[in-house]
Amino acid sequence: MNLPSLAGLRATRRAALLALSLWATQGLSPAWADAATPPGAQAALWAVAGQEQPALLETLRALVNIESGSSDREGLDRISELIAGRLRDLGGEVNFIEAAPADLYRMEDTPSRPGRMVHAVFKGSGQRRILLIAHMDTVYPRGMLAQQPYRVEGNRAYGLGIADDKQGVATVLHTVALLKRLGLNGYGQLTVLINGDEEISSPASRKTLAQFGREHDLVLSYEATRVGGDKLSLATSGIAMASLKVVGRASHAGGAPEAGVNALYELSHQLLQMRDLSVPERGLKVNWTIAKAGVVRNMIPPEASAQADVRLLRVSDLQALDRELQARIQRRLLPGSEVSVSLENRRPPLEPSDAARRVGAHAQQIYREIGHELQIDDRPEGGGTDAAFAALETRAPVLERLGLQGFGAHSDKAEYVLLDSIQPRLYLGLRLIGDFAAGRVPGPN
Ligand SMILES: [Zn+2]
Repeated sequence: MNLPSLAGLRATRRAALLALSLWATQGLSPAWADAATPPGAQAALWAVAGQEQPALLETLRALVNIESGSSDREGLDRISELIAGRLRDLGGEVNFIEAAPADLYRMEDTPSRPGRMVHAVFKGSGQRRILLIAHMDTVYPRGMLAQQPYRVEGNRAYGLGIADDKQGVATVLHTVALLKRLGLNGYGQLTVLINGDEEISSPASRKTLAQFGREHDLVLSYEATRVGGDKLSLATSGIAMASLKVVGRASHAGGAPEAGVNALYELSHQLLQMRDLSVPERGLKVNWTIAKAGVVRNMIPPEASAQADVRLLRVSDLQALDRELQARIQRRLLPGSEVSVSLENRRPPLEPSDAARRVGAHAQQIYREIGHELQIDDRPEGGGTDAAFAALETRAPVLERLGLQGFGAHSDKAEYVLLDSIQPRLYLGLRLIGDFAAGRVPGPN
């Protein structure tokens, strides 16, 4: 961790404590705020959030320089070591969480050893428990860093995976560092969970995310917000995959076609009778996109399969869809065929809750203190994130996009974050955590 000089640190801490005592006793912003401070801002918090920029960029450089694709266990081990070391230096109780084989949700693209999680606990003086999440894995295979190395140009810091989600990891680390430096520990417990499998739908971490969500009173997820839209999100899309399998019986297509059971015919029947499963007014989309059948031209096909892409906005729609699929496959064209269907839950949707809306409204007020407008978006944009797993079994407010403003995720375009979003976003996180810990923001109920 890059820290300012000791003298500078003491001065910052004195100013911060003074500001905080004013804030605590009067709920006012200090009158001696300097000219560069927006008139409504808590001056000391605003100042330290600004002073943190060089250290945060230094952390970003270190994180970008370790390639950590979701299937790159060696890279993930190295980056998780770095993150764990930082959290330990900040006084956290740190351990790695490796999913037990029984807790692993295996999907078609799940690697044999998904990345481990970094887990850190900070004990405070209050009651409320706050969870900060971000992910260290990227969609990029090893070797692509050379095309998008870390560099700063003007208001942009470029680098592979910098927006999704290395900025989230860095923002969490420096938020915790500033809370510690300011002596802001009014929470009961502050938990940090950084996982290494978000980009492959969190096969190893989904259970832990749901459990931690249950055990906390507020969840802040640090995916990036957009360059063109400074927002927090209360909703994300759910993604699933339906797999249909038909088993028939092979036979010579010329010699004895009647002895076979044509799996391709049965699959066609099934797809046609399951082409109306979308419910547009509920945001449920089911589209069959892949089909395979047949071995050679002169054989009645013994097997056929198909897959559908599923998007949903409500957790309950997944179970309902599963029931519907199981009911539909009972209607066969060819009684001699076997048909089965399964639903792979890639990622549940995050549904906006009233609790999250209240925290969102408070975040808007905080942003206004520094003269910024914060959008609170309760409609999903199409992507899914880990906030949804964290929200699955809890009534606690869950908010997404606490990270910096970023651009270019999941593409070969130059990925970057905006430097001038660092100070406002650190300020927002610090104020939100401080206020929530102090009970100034409504909790789950
Ligand atoms: Zn991400």
